[in-house]
Amino acid sequence: MRVLVLGGDGYLGWPTALHLSDCGHEVAVLDNFARRRYDEELGSQSLVPIEDLKVRVAAWKEVSGKEIPMYVGDLLDADFLYRAVREFEPEAIIHFGEQRAAPYSMIDREHAVYTQHNNVIGNLNVMYAIAEINPEIHLVKLGTMGEYGTPNIDIEEGWIEIEHNGRKDRMLYPKKAGSFYHLTKVHDSHNIEFGCRIWGMRATDLNQGIVYGQQTEQTTRDPRLATRFDYDAVFGTVLNRFVIQAALGQPLTVYGKGGQTRGMLDIRDTVECLRLAVENPAERGEFRVFNQMTESFSVKQLAELVADTYPGPVQIDYLENPRWELEEHYYNVKHTGLLELGLKPHLLSDTLIESLFPIVEENKHRVDMEKLFPSVKWSSAKNA
Ligand code: NAD
Repeated sequence: MRVLVLGGDGYLGWPTALHLSDCGHEVAVLDNFARRRYDEELGSQSLVPIEDLKVRVAAWKEVSGKEIPMYVGDLLDADFLYRAVREFEPEAIIHFGEQRAAPYSMIDREHAVYTQHNNVIGNLNVMYAIAEINPEIHLVKLGTMGEYGTPNIDIEEGWIEIEHNGRKDRMLYPKKAGSFYHLTKVHDSHNIEFGCRIWGMRATDLNQGIVYGQQTEQTTRDPRLATRFDYDAVFGTVLNRFVIQAALGQPLTVYGKGGQTRGMLDIRDTVECLRLAVENPAERGEFRVFNQMTESFSVKQLAELVADTYPGPVQIDYLENPRWELEEHYYNVKHTGLLELGLKPHLLSDTLIESLFPIVEENKHRVDMEKLFPSVKWSSAKNA
């Protein structure tokens, strides 16, 4: 199939492009390098050095013999996006291309507005490009498990049947997001579901859990193919950050009581979930939702797991929680859709955690210790 990967220079977009190309699909990537600019703005960098997109694409050609055309530009530029879609003629568009850090969206008004504008308008442009150029294109959109929040009832896969005053209906599952970033994903989901109803779009919304790990079968074939490994308190995801803290002899920083429980998955499962979603498209008019996660862990459990796996002593510190979130709560998520399509999960094991320590060891001279501590408070708006 012909697949256009939006956000194809990012942590997950790049390995997904490689995986699909390796599986025989014709893949192109589109990106405006916004993520690289956030690094410059925040003075942070990926722990593992990453090459420019041009070098990555050339390295993949050398290693595999396969071409990955690049479209460099902004999803907010509808003319550019339409040109890319007309020229590449994708059968599926995978949309990773959004600002994805909750703390970044909570820095101040400017960052909240940027995040909502970039994500919601970018996604709307993608929807219109599909509707106007070729409504057969399957949109595979990355959402997040954070859209649901932590309700005191089971979390269903996108939809819920509700009985109210003796009548029943199938409704979108209620959302209670925990940041202005997570809210952009809620808005996107609603916009896409509407597009499925009015234009007969075919869409898969992947409510993804927190991703850990840094290597896939394809990225390890050449160091130039490496993907990002973020550790800072703004973009670093929690398990990756704990591994780095342990390896550097720093305390693991758990926010609040650490009972916050989240769905998670291995980066090797992310790329495989994307393949499964693309190869098994939603029907015309269908808004299909999968909860893309394989296991749930509390932050405290993760910290203990990393501490137990690391060969040396590890301290766990409980910091004042900079976020607004429940620290003890019910969490039971249905996630059978991708398993039914054939996903064989890599569950979190000591081996995976152990495999991350040498990566840290090799790159530890690149770590800026200050960046490990939270710098953004959810309550930072004036008078809040
Ligand atoms: P990332 O920031 O590494 O990648 C996103 C890419 O999109 C970047 O390369 C960025 O430059 C690009 N981009 C952003 N805005 C753009 C625009 N307007 N035009 C063109 N390109 C643009 O993020 P990631 O970790 O790879 O996440 C990818 C997607 O998966 C995101 O939508 C994110 O919300 C979702 N997700 C990620 C995780 C996770 O743990 N990493 C968890 C759940 C959901």
